[in-house]
Amino acid sequence: MAANYVIHDVAIFDGERLLDGRHTVVIDAGRIADILPAGAVPASLLGEARSSGRLVAGDGRTLLPGLIDLHVHLTWSAGADPVATLALETPEQTLLRSVGHGLAQRDAGITTVRDLGSPHDLAIRLAEAVAAGWVPGPRIVASGRTLIMTGGHDPFWGLMVDGPAEALKGVRTQLFAGAQVIKVSATGGVYGRAAGEAVDDVELLPEELAIITQQAHRRGVKVAAHAIGEEGITNCLDAGVDTIEHGHFLTREQARRMADAGTILVPTLFVYQQVAGAAGVPEYASAKARAIVERHREAVAIARDAGVRIGAGSDAGSPGTPHPSLVEEIECLVGAGLPPTEALAAATSIAAEALGLEGEIGRVRAGLAADLILVEGDPTTSVAALRHVTHVWQSGRLTVRPM
Ligand SMILES: [Zn+2]
Repeated sequence: MAANYVIHDVAIFDGERLLDGRHTVVIDAGRIADILPAGAVPASLLGEARSSGRLVAGDGRTLLPGLIDLHVHLTWSAGADPVATLALETPEQTLLRSVGHGLAQRDAGITTVRDLGSPHDLAIRLAEAVAAGWVPGPRIVASGRTLIMTGGHDPFWGLMVDGPAEALKGVRTQLFAGAQVIKVSATGGVYGRAAGEAVDDVELLPEELAIITQQAHRRGVKVAAHAIGEEGITNCLDAGVDTIEHGHFLTREQARRMADAGTILVPTLFVYQQVAGAAGVPEYASAKARAIVERHREAVAIARDAGVRIGAGSDAGSPGTPHPSLVEEIECLVGAGLPPTEALAAATSIAAEALGLEGEIGRVRAGLAADLILVEGDPTTSVAALRHVTHVWQSGRLTVRPM
């Protein structure tokens, strides 16, 4: 067997749990070819890998699936007011800056990001460029422009639609543009502009959300809904969206519906803390964030009690929320009551399901793409170990290694 890499004698978090004992993972042709007990590896395989420089010794480290951030904005700068930055740039400048943000994510062990909103569909173009090998970066699943009502949340990258006919036109426009996920604004938000929206405003109407979701699903594309207020969340659940982003005012009844339907909650806890407290954030936004951060943690507890699957998304790029911020989000999930293994699953196996890519990424399992990371220590006891990434493989290519 000609192995591209042999990662020998490592602890493994497989996307769900820490495996017993040490294992050896064989990568071949970009995929995870085999997972063997470390003591059962043929000496010839180890010898061959060593002599070709393709043997990576575990040395007490833990191997995990490459991390997945379900909510980023690669076009946003993560400064105090990213919308203001966008307004000063040409699209070319924004795109080039975004390439750097993607690289920073990848270098931190985040091998896949879902980008939920970019002007001019720039994140779709960046996703294609990475997939083609033009520029390095993480896998990117991008929505491009967000479908919003006229005057709705995130107007700077919104495609404004009013009524079912325009909503249908809008979703078809984004699918034609190459969107791999459809993003909708179902309620108002916290950051973006000084006036004109409140978090419990209902934005896209039930009939608009329904036709968008039907059409996306017909094409095998998932729908991610920005929804903070209770009524907007109900509208999303009625429409059958796939993920609820933020979800601050989630009720127990809504959580039961989500658990039954398999809808995933991506709470994005960290960004609201940052917007509430980071220096320089516009006051209109920090005041709105401060008013809802406590309810946000409660929403996560309600979801977890009801058995809702929770995915990790940082909203990186937002005010005070750097590229990357996924470890901070995972720490927030632990702070909200998830055991470390659940918080890690939120950024691996469950995140892959949220993308519809569970047959490709999100687990250390034979047959899946070899998107893998090695970290110092044991992240299942302390998720802070994720800050010590030493190696990153992307489809079997070793793209980050110790200097
Ligand atoms: Zn966002």
